[in-house]
Amino acid sequence: MPYQSIPNQSGWLRRITPGMVVIFFALIMTACILGVVIWKALEAKSAALARGAADIQNLAHSLSEHAAHSIQAADIAMTGMVDLLRYQDPLPERFNKYMAETVAALPQIREIGALDTSGKWRYSSLPETPGYNNGDRPYFAFHRDNPDKALRISESFQSRLTGRPTILLSKRISKPDGSFGGVLTAAIDSDYFSGFYRTFQLGPDGGISLLRDDGAVLMRWPFTNRSTDLSKSDLFTTQLKLSSVGYYKITSPFDGVVKYFGYEQTPQYPLIVTVAMSEDWLLAAWSQALRTDALVAGVLLCMIILLAALLSSQFNFRIRTERALRRSESHYRLLADNIADVVILLDGRGTLRYVSHSVEQMLGVRAHDLVGKSCFDLVHAEDKERVMAASARLNGSGTVSTAEFRTFCADGSIVWVESHFKQASRRDDPAEAEFVGVLRDVTERRRMEEELTLLNRRLAQLAATDGLTGLTNRRTFDGFLSREYAACEEISVLLCDIDNFKGYNDTYGHQAGDRCLQAVARVIGDATSNTSGLSARYGGEEFAVVLPNMSEDEALKVAEKIRLTVRALGLPNSAATRGYLTISVGIATRTRATLGETALVGEADIGLYEAKRLGRNRSIAYSSLELRYVEAGSIQHDPELAPGERDPAH
Ligand code: GH3
Ligand code: MG
Ligand code: MG
Repeated sequence: MPYQSIPNQSGWLRRITPGMVVIFFALIMTACILGVVIWKALEAKSAALARGAADIQNLAHSLSEHAAHSIQAADIAMTGMVDLLRYQDPLPERFNKYMAETVAALPQIREIGALDTSGKWRYSSLPETPGYNNGDRPYFAFHRDNPDKALRISESFQSRLTGRPTILLSKRISKPDGSFGGVLTAAIDSDYFSGFYRTFQLGPDGGISLLRDDGAVLMRWPFTNRSTDLSKSDLFTTQLKLSSVGYYKITSPFDGVVKYFGYEQTPQYPLIVTVAMSEDWLLAAWSQALRTDALVAGVLLCMIILLAALLSSQFNFRIRTERALRRSESHYRLLADNIADVVILLDGRGTLRYVSHSVEQMLGVRAHDLVGKSCFDLVHAEDKERVMAASARLNGSGTVSTAEFRTFCADGSIVWVESHFKQASRRDDPAEAEFVGVLRDVTERRRMEEELTLLNRRLAQLAATDGLTGLTNRRTFDGFLSREYAACEEISVLLCDIDNFKGYNDTYGHQAGDRCLQAVARVIGDATSNTSGLSARYGGEEFAVVLPNMSEDEALKVAEKIRLTVRALGLPNSAATRGYLTISVGIATRTRATLGETALVGEADIGLYEAKRLGRNRSIAYSSLELRYVEAGSIQHDPELAPGERDPAH
């Protein structure tokens, strides 16, 4: 897989910040939760109000039935008594007892009494018939003046007998001729109804009222001193005109509380029962549920805000990290693409996964054309083995492996590359491991190194060579001799000196002398070319030859060949007795008695000295002299003395 950079977001997506995403998310979630809670709450509220309406109407119906039955039972009993008193005049003891038994059978009735035409008590269910006169009561006047036999229900008043609020049921007693015969009354304690009504849970602002159809309040629970006449109320002016059974909502003119009213008018009697409950009471359970829902919603919203904050911080962290990565990547890319070096990334198989753009400048090929290829394809065939060996060293070592190899430019020219490789990451599968390489064009450096090597070689050659003759110089000769002397049991040295050269110079000039020196040097150099020996300019017009592994006889032959070849050059030298340029040669070969390489040269010098002494143009081996000289004692041989420092005349 090619190495990929972090992708950049583009277009409108880039303008959406994490904060906007989080706010959008939080708003959507908040709207959803609030929407669900409000929708649920409204649904539950209508359901609660609908249930409340049904409950209120059911209760109003039941209570109107209850009131009607209570009155009806008394009405039936009173009708019987009125009929009896119409035709008979029973004994008070007997009728009073009958009345008492009736009262005992009907718990809603407190007492029953019969008034005579003057309003005085005639019969009574009470143990003692009261003595006062009720002729002043409105019901008495009503029945006296009205022949109607129907039951009359009084407004609530305070009983003279008990002092308690009382509703009085009354019927006219008519004589057989239709004339007024008195009034039959049955008293009902308001407590009878309130005792029953208080068993219902109507809430703090609820209440039940028993009304007469002219608006008179017969009983109200809980008890209040408010108006006892509701004929001007909404119930009587509007609702009852629409229907005898109903339900409506009002804001109480007394306490400002919103209430729902249910009412029902009894068909038999002019009675209306109203049941009121406050909206707050009806919605109490709903409010409780709403508070719970709001709490749950609040917790959810808090969690959403917390989640949103977490998300936001995560987003921000990610964005910051991505920005930092992108910045860092762009820095690295900038570096990788703009330095002259080429940065590459390889897998364990040597496949190129990333190549920096600087390769275009180095090799003239595009970076992405190389991705996916093997790095070894870039290496010159002759260097491939070396590079593979270097890469093998790299595997698992964790160190940097360096190799120089040749590669080809797009135009076919060869570029020398210095590479440094390092393992960048380890994987269980070695093929998946990653290696980073830095390639540098070292073609110019290699060229300069080669030039320098040539120059150094030339310099070394110059340092080792005599400038005039091209032979190795004295210093090189000394080193060579020292090495060969240590290595060879058998070794010979020749010292050659041009005869009468001072005179040559004087005769032909110094430049001619130089050319002469070059000619002699060529002859001496040829003597050791293609051999293990070495010819050197020893100093001035003296030359030395080292002949490793060469016996004295063979060395003598070489010396003679040189001497004769020089002579054969035929260079004229008028300063010499023979008229031609000649040389003298001294030969020394290592023996057991030889003290060292310096002594060996000294011995050759002695040979040379002897050659000069004997008339020049000859080769003399030191071994042929030694005995004679030592015996004659004519030569004081000091091997440490340099040959040039000796004078043959001594
Ligand atoms: P002998 O036969 O005894 O060696 O006689 P000689 O004249 O050669 O005597 P000597 O060795 O003293 O003279 C050496 C001369 O070689 C002295 C010097 O002028 C000459 N010479 C030394 N080096 C050079 C050189 O590089 N070029 C030239 N032209 N002459 C040189
Ligand atoms: Mg000399
Ligand atoms: Mg000489």
